[in-house]
Amino acid sequence: LAERLAAAAAPRPGGPAPRVYAVASGKGGVGKSTVTANLATALAASGQRVGLIDADVWGYSVPQLFGVRRHPVVLGEKMQPVRAHGVALMSTGFFVDEDDPVIWRGPMLHKALQQFVTDVAWGPLDVLLVDLPPGTGDATLSVLELLPDAALLAVTTPQTAARVVARRVVRMATESGAPLAGVVENMAGTVCVSCGETSAVFGSGGGELLADEAGTTLLGRVPLDVPLREAGDRGVPVVLDAPGAPSARELTRVAATL
Ligand code: ADP
Repeated sequence: LAERLAAAAAPRPGGPAPRVYAVASGKGGVGKSTVTANLATALAASGQRVGLIDADVWGYSVPQLFGVRRHPVVLGEKMQPVRAHGVALMSTGFFVDEDDPVIWRGPMLHKALQQFVTDVAWGPLDVLLVDLPPGTGDATLSVLELLPDAALLAVTTPQTAARVVARRVVRMATESGAPLAGVVENMAGTVCVSCGETSAVFGSGGGELLADEAGTTLLGRVPLDVPLREAGDRGVPVVLDAPGAPSARELTRVAATL
């Protein structure tokens, strides 16, 4: 499958396969999807051909983060990815109504993810990002199996509780042979808009500690800020919506390292 994806995505026969990053977190709400959406958008803005698979099948948020929700067009035997903000997207959210719960079990989930990899006309890609569901469940296993070239990028907040659960996902990835691309610490402090003082709402040091423990690099520390949240609610990633915001600057810098 990885070979088929590489073949479908290679710019020319024998050309380089896309770099693949599976973005993971231990638990929900740490900003994994937001970070993934912004890294994808920043990479696309830098001129790269970027695909994003939303493998957070039950808790998908790609349609909201990119402000797009429509059924993918099928041409021939392949689904066309949905394009927004320069990124080619595929998400369960494009197939179901917003209020419908997705109640797929393991085998169906695996099949859906497999189709996202092989039955989508991704075209030539430089980078493919996969937004994993939080934790060490079926979908994460399926993605690691379907995309053996994926490197794991772990997102955590600085808080101990988040770091400890993120560590389990990192361990699962390394046990299945996936290389580690690094750690992004999100919600790393916030600057008070009235007094200018920085406060560590979720503590500090969790990202660095996780990276050290896993023997990988801390790629960046994204601060908590209002422009990022507002941009997400508006369906435009903050790196485009407010590129001068502290979160946007750091996410753009991290994307340039991928
Ligand atoms: P996850 O994918 O880990 O469940 P999300 O990306 O959905 O998390 O983010 C959870 C919530 O936190 C969203 O409402 C998002 O807008 C907000 N958020 C994430 N990162 C930041 C940040 N750095 N600053 C402000 N809000 C953030």
